Amino acid sequence: MSFQFETKAIRTQTERSQFLEHSTPLHLTSSFVFEDAEEMRASFAEEKERNIYSRFSNPNTSEFIQKVCQMEGAEEGVAFASGMGAVFGTFATFLNTGDHIISARAVFGSTHSLFTKYFPKWGIQTSYFDVNQLDTVEDLIQKNTQCIYVESPTNPGVDILDLEVLGTIAKKHKLLFIVDNCFATPYLQNPIQFGADLVIHSATKLMDGQGRVLGGITVGKKELIRELYLFARNTGASLSPFNAWVLSKSLETLSVRVDRHCKNALILAQKLEQLEEINWVKYPFLPSHPQNKLAQKQMKQGGTIISFELKGGVEAGRKFINQIRMCSLSANLGDSRTIVTHPASTTHSKLSAADQLAVGITGGMIRLSVGLEHPEDIWKDLNQAITH
Ligand SMILES: *Cc1c(COP(=O)(O)O)cnc(C)c1O
Repeated sequence: MSFQFETKAIRTQTERSQFLEHSTPLHLTSSFVFEDAEEMRASFAEEKERNIYSRFSNPNTSEFIQKVCQMEGAEEGVAFASGMGAVFGTFATFLNTGDHIISARAVFGSTHSLFTKYFPKWGIQTSYFDVNQLDTVEDLIQKNTQCIYVESPTNPGVDILDLEVLGTIAKKHKLLFIVDNCFATPYLQNPIQFGADLVIHSATKLMDGQGRVLGGITVGKKELIRELYLFARNTGASLSPFNAWVLSKSLETLSVRVDRHCKNALILAQKLEQLEEINWVKYPFLPSHPQNKLAQKQMKQGGTIISFELKGGVEAGRKFINQIRMCSLSANLGDSRTIVTHPASTTHSKLSAADQLAVGITGGMIRLSVGLEHPEDIWKDLNQAITH
């Protein structure tokens, strides 16, 4: 039978043991045993698909991977201990000394650190394009370019990149197209449909959705994932079976949670737009969003992140944060609890004002990760902190 997204999220399950458990048990074991010498030989020779050691595979990890593959329409995947484990592992597998990356300027902070601090020492260079200037991407291609790398929606600017346009460029020039789909989740957006070769997630965010565990995953074409798998199993950033179990359970409710996150976010974005203390509000499914049409085309709903700018610059931003009563002051996002951050004074404080602007950050800008509390309660807190 072929199932819909919600059903796959629930009915993809590890084979039952002799105990006929209803829900998948936790397989906390570092290794697995063999019946005899021949079984052992065949397993190591990979003539048989079977678990050997939990750094390579584990039933809980496999269940999690299988679910995400189904949700993304991917052939296979590899799970990692964190989102950054997945990002690093993916680049490290496919890049060689002397290679070149083309990346959107607005990418997750630690990914940016890989590009600027670590890859150059292995001779890997990165060129950046502005999220609103996809027409410059082809000009950045060099002989040694290996891949195009993007996130959409972006963090914290909530800009939308046209994945189909980028997928077409990548295909034309035979480049790997890698998308970090963390902000959208597989429920809202499937980059493979638009030509992505590899899709990465920090499972720490909306996939867990309750701020409990770290995890990461990369999914994509079988031949590519095979390479990635060998890198991962030899380098050790494996997802723990416990975290995989938590994450697989979380995926059962992903659609329901993300629906509500998006519903709350749209309500709040509309209310924020009415306040005169605010210069602008950016949310992909607000008609005022510059790429609203594109968002409607490639995403099912607008996601959980809103950004807005308070009048009064950095001081107004800091004052707002100090005035918050219920929402959490945290660097995390995609949690059941609403989180507010002030990028200019925290996550992006090391960037110059010009560099901050280049990735869409202004002094008075606030990033809001809308949670699952009642929208009226979230609104009361935001409203009092803005208008006090
Ligand atoms: C959080 C995040 C990551 C890193 O994930 P971790 O699980 O924290 O390692 C990568 N990309 C994006 C877009 C993220 O939000």
